[in-house]
Amino acid sequence: MTTHERPLDSVLEAVGRTPLVRVHDAPEGIPVYAKLESFNPGASVKDRIGKYMLERMLERGDLAPGGTVIEPTAGNTGIGLAIAAGQLGLNAIFVVPEKFSVEKQQLMAALGAKVINTPTSDGMGGAIARAHELAEELDDAVVPQQFANPLNTEAHYETTGPELYEALDGEVGAVVAGCGTAGTLMGIARYAREQHPDTYVVAVEPDGSLFGEFLEKDRHEDEYKIEGIGTHDTDTNELFEADLVDDVYAVSDEATHEELKRLAREEGHLVASSAAAASVAAKRVARRIDSGEIDAPYDSVVTVFPDSSERYLSKGIYRSFEEWAN
Ligand code: PMP
Repeated sequence: MTTHERPLDSVLEAVGRTPLVRVHDAPEGIPVYAKLESFNPGASVKDRIGKYMLERMLERGDLAPGGTVIEPTAGNTGIGLAIAAGQLGLNAIFVVPEKFSVEKQQLMAALGAKVINTPTSDGMGGAIARAHELAEELDDAVVPQQFANPLNTEAHYETTGPELYEALDGEVGAVVAGCGTAGTLMGIARYAREQHPDTYVVAVEPDGSLFGEFLEKDRHEDEYKIEGIGTHDTDTNELFEADLVDDVYAVSDEATHEELKRLAREEGHLVASSAAAASVAAKRVARRIDSGEIDAPYDSVVTVFPDSSERYLSKGIYRSFEEWAN
């Protein structure tokens, strides 16, 4: 970890190099490890792309110094981009569907960004369209577009992937991660397949999400409570590369809620729903490696816990399943 080794000049230097911690409720011989992304300064995995995308865009001249970043985002990306924008002398505007957590929107505003809400019924598609309209209206404004920008995947190929392999001396059998933009999974998977072409890769989505259609699996679209992963329209998920993925696991809201409570109670992990869904799926992969159903190059599974439950307390994340609101 970066944080305690030496004094740092800026929070941007504290992005990444997060701890990798074992999840114990898994087969003894197939350890499952989770990368705790809430250790980033903005408390989520999205600090990585906030920093990486804006630094590269400035370097390339795609973004002018003092310019404006406009992004449709469910929240964590807004926080990651707002931190980076603030430290790099840029303005930030975020377009957020109403249903997403108020905590995240307050944090974006505290970081100096402007937050604009779009109707929940218009989905992420509505937020994406509004962001582009705004960019047309302003000078020197760009939409990094995390759903389509290869820099999103590249951030994880350059940082998250190598960190996982370094921590495990290269012995990674399977990679399991939830997909929202799919940048996290694609970046790690691309790096993993270069280290060992048979690394088993599993995408995780909520029941009711349609990522499985990329691998021609039967899917039935429905609402879900899990926040930060899943898709209702695969046309928006331009980063998902089906040939980097062996399987797509759908996890129910119920199993996820049970797991996020168990992770806190038994293992001290204060993680949110997308992490719990990833945990359910990673343990399933570990059991299948253990039983010989999956042939992985090493006896280990890695996953990512994208953010902390503290960000969702207002939604009753630790109350009963029925009280946990979307
Ligand atoms: N979990 C949470 C809480 C998120 O905010 C996101 C980003 N939407 C993800 C998981 C998924 O990450 P990615 O966009 O890289 O697929």
